[in-house]
Amino acid sequence: MASPYIDSIVKSGGIPIVIPILNKLSIKKVTDKINGLLLSGGFDISPVLYGEEPFGVGKVDPDRDRFEIEITKYAWRLGIPILAICRGIQVLNVALGGTLKQRIKGIKHFQQAERCQPSHSISIEQGSLFHKIIKQKKLMVNSFHHDAIEKIDHRLKATAWAKDEVVEVLEASDPKKFVLGVQFHPECMYEKYPIFRKIFSCFISVCGRHKSTADKKG
Ligand code: MN
Repeated sequence: MASPYIDSIVKSGGIPIVIPILNKLSIKKVTDKINGLLLSGGFDISPVLYGEEPFGVGKVDPDRDRFEIEITKYAWRLGIPILAICRGIQVLNVALGGTLKQRIKGIKHFQQAERCQPSHSISIEQGSLFHKIIKQKKLMVNSFHHDAIEKIDHRLKATAWAKDEVVEVLEASDPKKFVLGVQFHPECMYEKYPIFRKIFSCFISVCGRHKSTADKKG
C-alpha cells in the first residue's frame, strides 16, 4: 500500500487498516468491523470480470480484482461509506454491474508529470455530493488511468467529467449513501493542493458517524 493513502487517512483523523486478499468468509468478518472502505489505485481490471475480451487492457491481477469486487459488494450492502480512488472507481463500477472502456483515446489521461501535479480539468455537476465537498464547478486533477467508466448501474451516477466526456467522479444515486469514486489521485495532491484534503476529511467524518455491524451488536 503506497504511503500517501495511509498518510491522507491518518492526517484526516482516521485509523487505516490495510486489508489483504481474503476469502468470502473473512471478507464478511473484516467488513463487519470497519467504519469505511477505501479502494486504492493499482493495475487495470481484468475485462473478463465485466464480460468483455481483453483487447486493450494493461497489467492485471484477477485475484485482487475478485477480492475487491466482493468486499465492495458487501460494504455496499451494509451501507458502509466508500471512497474509491482511480482503480477503485473502476472496481466500484464493475462491482455494481457496470463496464469499462479499455485504452481510451481523447485527452491524455496517463500523465508524464509528477503524481502531485494536476494535468487536466474536470467539470463538476452542481448540487452533487462532490460539488458539496469541493465547492467549485471546475477542478484541475492528476490522471493515471488507461481505462474509463463506460456503462453505469442505476445505483450510481456520474457527477464530473473531463473535456473528452470521460467520467472522473461517480457517486451513489441515493443521497443518503456516502459512496464516492474519483478517477484521479487526491492522496497525491493532498500536500500541495489543500482543496483535495476536503475529500478525505469529509470521508473520515462520515465514517466517524457510521456504526459498524460489530458496533451495533455491542
Ligand atoms: Mn483522467
